[in-house]
Amino acid sequence: MPLEGFLREIKGFLKDSQIVLDRENLSHFSYDATERQFMPQVAVLPENGSEVSQLMKCAWAHDIPVTPQGGKTGLSGGALPVRGGIALSLARLNRIIEIDESNMFAVVEPGLISNDLQKALNERGLFFPPDPSSTVDSTLGGNVAENAGYTRAVKYGVTRDYVRGVEAVLPSGEVITLGGKMVKNVAGYDLISLLVGSEGTLAVITKITLRLLMKPHVRRTIIVYLNDLACAADLIVAVFKSGVIPCAIELMDNIAINTVADHLRAPLPRDAAALVLIETDGHSEDEVHREALEIAGLCRNSAGVTDARPAADDVEAERFWTFRREVLPSLKALGKDHLEADVVVPRYSLPFLVRFIGGLEHSSSIKIATYGHAGDGNLHVTILHRRRNFAELDEAYGLLEVIYRETIAMGGSLTGEHGVGLTVMDYLPMQIDGEALPLMRRIKAAFDPKGLLNPGKIFKE
Ligand SMILES: Cc1cc2nc3c(=O)[nH]c(=O)nc-3n(C[C@H](O)[C@H](O)[C@H](O)COP(=O)(O)OP(=O)(O)OC[C@H]3O[C@@H](n4cnc5c(N)ncnc54)[C@H](O)[C@@H]3O)c2cc1C
Repeated sequence: MPLEGFLREIKGFLKDSQIVLDRENLSHFSYDATERQFMPQVAVLPENGSEVSQLMKCAWAHDIPVTPQGGKTGLSGGALPVRGGIALSLARLNRIIEIDESNMFAVVEPGLISNDLQKALNERGLFFPPDPSSTVDSTLGGNVAENAGYTRAVKYGVTRDYVRGVEAVLPSGEVITLGGKMVKNVAGYDLISLLVGSEGTLAVITKITLRLLMKPHVRRTIIVYLNDLACAADLIVAVFKSGVIPCAIELMDNIAINTVADHLRAPLPRDAAALVLIETDGHSEDEVHREALEIAGLCRNSAGVTDARPAADDVEAERFWTFRREVLPSLKALGKDHLEADVVVPRYSLPFLVRFIGGLEHSSSIKIATYGHAGDGNLHVTILHRRRNFAELDEAYGLLEVIYRETIAMGGSLTGEHGVGLTVMDYLPMQIDGEALPLMRRIKAAFDPKGLLNPGKIFKE
């Protein structure tokens, strides 16, 4: 793809330090957390929305594909420049524009790291619940583009529930401004909700207005061990039936427990079939304490539970949440290849899905780790297989497809939070049939008639 004309034009408004062309530095823009690699021809690092708009106009004029990139922690390959062209890094649009404490809104740029917003809000006693486990590397733009989930989504909902305004650049370079600091807004179609979760295929997000809450200052974590993984799934259903609404219910199976124990040298019980972490939070010490005791009591009376107790203090609670956050990094550190299914089922079906996965037959060198946001019915089923062993790779893909089919049969979805991107694209027609997929393609074409923005994602060409 000839770049000369494009480069000549962008050198008129970008500094040399905002354009990366040499192969060594370009490789930084060629991968994401899927560990796949596609080289772009050039990477650009705009510093404000106006430069993004100018860049998009130039790319449009020269018919060059553009792939937006945030922190590149995506797990479905959304930030990979699969058609080469331009890697558009939003990393330098990383300012907090405003924290409006009176209206309880934050206005931020998309390249802001999730954890930097969390720290700034923490200091003011404010709370932005969506905070994925990748918080130290993921960006707000990436979280919005993926509609990211997180552990406390059980009570607080997902990223989409907090986005109230968006400034975005269309593939042609035109800028659209939607919503603002409003709690309610039903003027016209809800394009904000459409852009949230659109995986960088419809527009480049350059400014985001987020609804905030007051920080609940009381939290309690209940630590539960079980000798049967399916019983853990039954327990989660039972907790919800009790009427208490925890803010998080997370699950780790035996493989996840042992992998974290090895990686962090953590004193976790090696023979436990499952570890479930349940968190309650609120503004009243008495209320949260009562809920924690109620949940711990319910757990102790449930089948398969070998131990259930509230964490001794905040330090112990935080240690266990670190174990949970470290599951994926620990699995990756095993040095094996893996396929991941980010499946979600109606909560009541969770025990059936867990039993189904537990009953799958496979070679002894393949391992299936199951962990995730069980309170949302969202599991990350990770199929570990040996590197460069093609028979095992075939088997792993076979298992992935069987898990996907069962998920759909249970009325679930192929992805709860990691998106379709590149990795789920081939399977999407299993879930979305009839007129819905062609309608989605027409929406894509309405935003991007030339198909230049993040091509090769979501829809199989
Ligand atoms: C250790 C680990 C833990 C994780 N935990 C969670 C979790 O708890 N919950 C969860 O949901 N996910 C999780 N993820 C996945 C990932 O962190 C999220 O999907 C995250 O939201 C991606 O953000 P990012 O900035 O890294 O985006 P990237 O990976 O850079 O991009 C993701 C997608 O967003 C698009 N994009 C990025 N910025 C923009 C923009 N400004 N405008 C338009 N499109 C844009 C890209 O084109 C791409 O399609 C985890 C990943 C890792 C590695």
